[in-house]
Amino acid sequence: MCVTSEYDLGCANCGGSLARREVPPEALAFPVSESVEVAECPNCGGRYVPEATLERVGGDGFGRQT
Ligand SMILES: [Zn+2]
Repeated sequence: MCVTSEYDLGCANCGGSLARREVPPEALAFPVSESVEVAECPNCGGRYVPEATLERVGGDGFGRQT
């Protein structure tokens, strides 16, 4: 998982286009109770957290690749 601000940058792993998805915060270990928006690659399953999402959850240090 790495940080990106654009969905249309494509997947860093396979170059596929990213799809906007909402996932439960516990799936990403975010300290929030609502779902968080991520960009997910349908090809390889890679997940990217947009900067806007990081800002919304007050995230700092959540953008590290897992
Ligand atoms: Zn991919």
